[in-house]
Amino acid sequence: MAILEMKYYGSAVLTRPAKPIKQVDREILMLARDLLDTMYHYQGVGLAGPQVGVSKQIIVVDCGEEYQTDPYILLNPLVASAEGQQVGSEGCLSLPDLFIDVERASCVKIQALNLDGKPITVHGDGLLARALLHEIDHLKGKVFTELATDKEQLEREIPLLKER
Ligand code: ZN
Repeated sequence: MAILEMKYYGSAVLTRPAKPIKQVDREILMLARDLLDTMYHYQGVGLAGPQVGVSKQIIVVDCGEEYQTDPYILLNPLVASAEGQQVGSEGCLSLPDLFIDVERASCVKIQALNLDGKPITVHGDGLLARALLHEIDHLKGKVFTELATDKEQLEREIPLLKER
């Protein structure tokens, strides 16, 4: 078990597109394990490779849904479809204590590989859809502040963030 060092807002790795994973080797298996440990340690609902300084296309998500027994561990995830819309408060472990309103699709279908290297499809709505889209954005080098629906709210919050 390892808690990885978190990369915070302003770190270059958060703005860089992450590389696809070609092979599930021991390094990836360990990274997946450590990402989960780190996410749970910081009490997040999702975490992406770049957030711990690893520019690879891997995300972990656990929104604690009743129907979900295991956390999602997705490699090379792609948004296959996104429908509807929801606006809600969103946060990020790389931007601690910042919560801003973000508009997202309310229902998504994600295609990815699992840790066995097999293609899987994940359907998510509500918070799960939000978390999946948020983490996939990290793999594109995008942070959620770019999607703020209320720019004034963002401008009020960002200076506070830089002081931290
Ligand atoms: Zn984030």
